[in-house]
Amino acid sequence: MRDLSITTKLVHSGERREPPEGQPVATPIYSTVTYTYPTMAEMDQVFAGEGGDFIYSRYGNPTVAALQESLAAIENGKVSVAYGSGMAAIHAALIACELQPGSVVLASQDLYGASYNLLYKILGPFGIKTKTANFNDLDGLRSTVDNLKPRVLLAETISNPLLKVCDISAVAEIAHTAGARLIVDNTFASPYLCRPLDLGADFTVHSATKYLGGHADAMGGIVVSNEETDALALIGVLKLVGGVLSAWEANQILRGIKTLALRLERQCQNARILAERLAKNEKIDAVFYPTISGDKTLAARVLLEPFGGALVTIKLKDDTRDASYRFMDSLELVVRGTSLGDVYTLVSHSASSSHRELSPKRKADLGITEGIVRISVGIEDVKDIIYDVENALGQ
Ligand code: PLP
Repeated sequence: MRDLSITTKLVHSGERREPPEGQPVATPIYSTVTYTYPTMAEMDQVFAGEGGDFIYSRYGNPTVAALQESLAAIENGKVSVAYGSGMAAIHAALIACELQPGSVVLASQDLYGASYNLLYKILGPFGIKTKTANFNDLDGLRSTVDNLKPRVLLAETISNPLLKVCDISAVAEIAHTAGARLIVDNTFASPYLCRPLDLGADFTVHSATKYLGGHADAMGGIVVSNEETDALALIGVLKLVGGVLSAWEANQILRGIKTLALRLERQCQNARILAERLAKNEKIDAVFYPTISGDKTLAARVLLEPFGGALVTIKLKDDTRDASYRFMDSLELVVRGTSLGDVYTLVSHSASSSHRELSPKRKADLGITEGIVRISVGIEDVKDIIYDVENALGQ
């Protein structure tokens, strides 16, 4: 090539070098939107899906692909597609179930508020009908499924905020007998504690923003399926709806995943100790924790023994918003924050955050009263967490 002017050199020099001979040990961040090939004939083949890997970042990115491969391995699935958030992932999994006008989605009554709103507000106007059921009442669920003939059942491994564990194998059997597919939002358990595909689910979905990332600094979502044929729809949603995960966030989440087991073990131990301690606190009416207040045999079947997860929910005796806010405002170490699954201990007031948009009657039916506070337990020294929580309860 002839000698180029300084202006052109500024633009092109150093770019598009051959990949290094030594293989990078950690996955690099591929911060590029587009990919070039030596000839147009080769580009044409890539567009036709007959060669090459990457062409444009909405269609795929090597850093994101590494995360997808990691989740497929961890969740024992065949297909894994990442998105820009957990909500985008739930949306993609629903679309992959080939919903049509008139299709019924049967959702667990304890579902995350935004997942409901996605079903009602976004998919509802397109003719998708959403019904809810108590997924912990298996006989009732079976007859509801027989009556409604849903196309999809949507469950969560551990419900928010009352931390009920879903009997995934039983729910999968009910779904499959009726020809429906089961999507399990595994965000609250994480793949370290539960792998829904192994228990019979068709899709497992994560808000990677939570335990997978684990540091409150990256937002993402992922769907894993055990059917190769789901790839087309899952990738189709990515390409055409465009809720892509950036390479930067994929890198943060990949990094988070490496310490998932270490973090979770500490977080679960801390959570159990905190739950046992708070059960004796005179300001508290009830403590919700799967291996203490819930069905322990079910928890042991669904979650990695002996763990009960890293969330603890409390109900204050003074079941008012004022009392909850006073407690939360008095915390000095524990952080007021609506998310969960981070290394930091976080508290959230369900009635005014995750379940804010539900009617007072619906909140009451679900047992989400004003005195309910969810604690997402972090990796700090549990003595410091207990001190802070007990001190704030005393205020
Ligand atoms: N699923 C559950 C159980 C959640 O708690 C959340 C968010 O809090 C989501 C999905 C949505 O995830 P994101 O905020 O990454 O879209």
